[in-house]
Amino acid sequence: MQDPLAILRSTFGFQDFRGVQQQVIDRVMSGQHSLTVMPTGAGKSLCYQVPALARPGTALVISPLIALMHDQIRAASGFGIQAAALTSADDNRQETLARLNSGALDILYAAPERASGESFRAMIGRIPLALIAIDEAHCVSEWGHDFRPDYRLLRPLLDHFPDVPRLALTATADRETRADILVQLGIPQDGLILAGFDRPNIRYHIRPRDGVGAQLKTLLGGQPGPGIVYAPSRAGTEKLAEQLGGAGRKVLPYHAGLEPQIRSRNQAAFVSSEDMVMAATIAFGMGIDKPDVRFVAHAGLPKSIEAFYQETGRAGRDGDPAEAWLFWGGEDFARARRRIETEVEESRRPGERQRLNALAALVETAGCRRALLLRHFGETPPEICGNCDNCLEPPTTVDATEAARKLLSAAFRTEMRFGIAHLTDVLAGRDTEKIRNLGHDRLSVFGIASEEELALVKPVARALLARDALRADEYGGLSFGPSARALLKGEDRLELVLPPKRQRRSRRGGVA
Ligand code: ADP
Ligand code: ZN
Repeated sequence: MQDPLAILRSTFGFQDFRGVQQQVIDRVMSGQHSLTVMPTGAGKSLCYQVPALARPGTALVISPLIALMHDQIRAASGFGIQAAALTSADDNRQETLARLNSGALDILYAAPERASGESFRAMIGRIPLALIAIDEAHCVSEWGHDFRPDYRLLRPLLDHFPDVPRLALTATADRETRADILVQLGIPQDGLILAGFDRPNIRYHIRPRDGVGAQLKTLLGGQPGPGIVYAPSRAGTEKLAEQLGGAGRKVLPYHAGLEPQIRSRNQAAFVSSEDMVMAATIAFGMGIDKPDVRFVAHAGLPKSIEAFYQETGRAGRDGDPAEAWLFWGGEDFARARRRIETEVEESRRPGERQRLNALAALVETAGCRRALLLRHFGETPPEICGNCDNCLEPPTTVDATEAARKLLSAAFRTEMRFGIAHLTDVLAGRDTEKIRNLGHDRLSVFGIASEEELALVKPVARALLARDALRADEYGGLSFGPSARALLKGEDRLELVLPPKRQRRSRRGGVA
């Protein structure tokens, strides 16, 4: 075996290991199994690349996406590492097998569905293995935000090589997910190595969506440097690219439905640009080596806190100040909840609901965003970070419990099928044709809201949708969710965070 530090210096040209890299590599070198959770950009690849070179034999790396493998191979080749992949997209299979069998390969990449097969196991059983790395290891857990059943097939392969050190790696895993990964992959408790999650140079801002095109234009106007705007759909990326372009800045779309040439052209333009904005689906960013991304903005709710953390983590990898913006709406929550109740397998629903509730807490909090994020990942951060919207400008809150109760009552009395506009009319006691025809002017809730309460109906509805006190059907019809009861019975209150009136320029020249 060779000395890892010597390899770090000679092969990679880096002086020292960073953070927990040394700890992880020591464990792999001593032949033990480990799981490491390190934020994006912390240098996970090095944790298996160095032992791949230092230990005798070839390292097998399991990775979920071909594009990700190819990025890794390109990066590894840049350091003179011999790496190849066996996938349907690689037509050099014979050559790769020859390199593997002659011992010339340092790293072999494969997807879980292939690696778990009988013939693959027989093939790698004939050569010495340096280690088995399982990248994006959260995919093995149903608790994780990106469960992939194929990852579950890996265990027999791992157990077939009990003496080969396994190294599971991921950038995002909360406590439950971590515990589950350990069990699923047969890694002992003491093999868990956590790096700190904080990305102190990223400033978080979370706002209700209110004309998101204009909100993003303001943002782009005050925020120099390359940035990514995430839209929830392919069509959304193109619409945003069109809307946001023309403001003097290059804005291109990126999503999996674009022609491959256009996609790679747009990506190349972004990577080499110093002020371009990419309007993209979340497919964009994984495996892209652009350390100077200055901001990441979400035009819609991400899938989970893990996803939010991972996607915003693509900003500021160079360590310089960067901004993360999230614009959310009540309908994001309504849609996500509908999906859980109709499309998600029943056994997975409790976990998914919990994940969505955690996101609701993040967007609704009047407290420090970073503290909430870090606590979510099991850390005990200070109460105040000084570098998020709520720390920089503590928001005003109002007790909107009464307004919330009135809105819920109005939904109940009108048989839980009307949208926010009609309910507002009822609460305001307006004389509309619809109200007269339905006889809603005879209801006890007709005209019971004060001016102040009426002004709060929209943010209240948004908050109730987020915390699952209200649910919306696809036409906007509002009905009760499970947390409505506690509010109505006086067991729960609604403390509403009022968004700042306008987006202001911050000290750094961005908008705050
Ligand atoms: P991750 O996979 O955790 O997101 P990468 O493995 O892509 O991160 O590493 C991020 C960047 O940091 C890469 O450019 C990598 O070369 C660099 N890097 C990793 N480890 C070190 C180190 N010990 N010293 C200097 N740079 C490093
Ligand atoms: Zn803060």
